[in-house]
Amino acid sequence: MKGEIISVGTELLLGQIVNTNAAFISQKLAELGIDVYYTTTVGDNAARLREVFTRSWQRSDLIILTGGLGPTMDDLTRETVADFLGLELVLNHDILAALRDYFASRGRVMTENNKKQAYFPAGAQILPNPNGTAAGVFLEKEGKVVVMLPGPPFEMVPMFENEVVPRLENLLAGRREVIKSRVLKLYGVGESQLETMLQDLLEKQSNPTLATLAKENEIQLRLTAKASLPERAEKLLAEMEAEIRKRVGQFVFAVDDETMEEVVGILLRQRGATISVAESCTGGLIGHRLTEVPGSSAYFQYGVVTYSNEAKEKLLHVDGELLRRFGAVSSQVARAMAAGVRELGKTSLGLAVTGIAGPEGGRPGKPVGLVYIALATQAEVHVESHNFRGPRPVIKKRASQAALNLVRKYLLGYLDEEKEDNE
Ligand code: ATP
Ligand code: MG
Repeated sequence: MKGEIISVGTELLLGQIVNTNAAFISQKLAELGIDVYYTTTVGDNAARLREVFTRSWQRSDLIILTGGLGPTMDDLTRETVADFLGLELVLNHDILAALRDYFASRGRVMTENNKKQAYFPAGAQILPNPNGTAAGVFLEKEGKVVVMLPGPPFEMVPMFENEVVPRLENLLAGRREVIKSRVLKLYGVGESQLETMLQDLLEKQSNPTLATLAKENEIQLRLTAKASLPERAEKLLAEMEAEIRKRVGQFVFAVDDETMEEVVGILLRQRGATISVAESCTGGLIGHRLTEVPGSSAYFQYGVVTYSNEAKEKLLHVDGELLRRFGAVSSQVARAMAAGVRELGKTSLGLAVTGIAGPEGGRPGKPVGLVYIALATQAEVHVESHNFRGPRPVIKKRASQAALNLVRKYLLGYLDEEKEDNE
């Protein structure tokens, strides 16, 4: 909200009084978070006040005037503003009665010109003045707010604090924009592929806005919505999320701070499933990640690092013949490891990883970064092969992410869909 102040009074221009009202109001508006770009002082002259007000009306949302609300000829704030806004001045009988009481209680006669203070622009709210005769004015028109306050500080200050601040706070609460954002985390899709699938959404984005960000193990899609109410912003986010999920839902593994291991944990729990893991090149990273989640003992049973061929044979009963014929890094051995660890842990699922993390150990047909991941279920064993790039720690992380994602895909039924697609 952009606000400005117009101080009306020839004595201000002559330097006879200091403009403490503008200083006070500026400070209060700053506290409310309202930007003040202009304060103007103008004399008691209708034409010049109109000129100043016209400018303010064009550039500001809130215009606060002080001074010129009195009963005399040179008090012309109310008349000038009402005339500019095309609002009739209407007699308020309550205020007129209050004025009569005010004079009567002081044993004075109310003169005809005092009646002028009982007229207010049509539709305006009247701000009572317990410290004087000039009631204030608070009016809203075309989304803008105009406030007229008496000049004497001992009248203006309490009126501002008691009558204006609460009204402005109310308005601000209704106008303040809230910004909400949501991050969708995707795995298994490239950034450019994703952009192609969401191209029209990315192109016509305005509210919410969409931005993609490639991370080591995921692509983040940040949705940011603006609205006057938090619920409205949340609704905009939910609608956009639904549209995105319609197109690329199978890749969305988590929202905001959720991790892949947490999501896998939740799914395992929901399905009442348990899991054991046999790791070669990831060296225990998958077990570590699964056990980062509190309560993982409900579904995580065994995690073994079977790095050598001997360990694979001894612990997982991988057939030595398979190891010799296909090598430790092969789909056949990955399958046997998964089935073996499932049997060892007596769990519903057995997950296994075997691969070449590098930087040495690559050979023709089996380059560094080649990783087989297998998931044994009661019915069958699913195997995936990946070619990860990057230094050794990155390949390990990527392999662990793909392995956990394989479990996620299985638990959500996406593996059957992939199979159908391939057939
Ligand atoms: P009144 O009903 O007393 O006539 P008014 O709303 O018409 O009030 P003015 O006549 O403009 O206000 O000013 C009355 C007195 O208020 C001034 O003589 C001055 O003492 C004080 N005053 C007015 N404007 C300011 C200001 N911006 N800063 C400080 N004091 C002010
Ligand atoms: Mg006056």
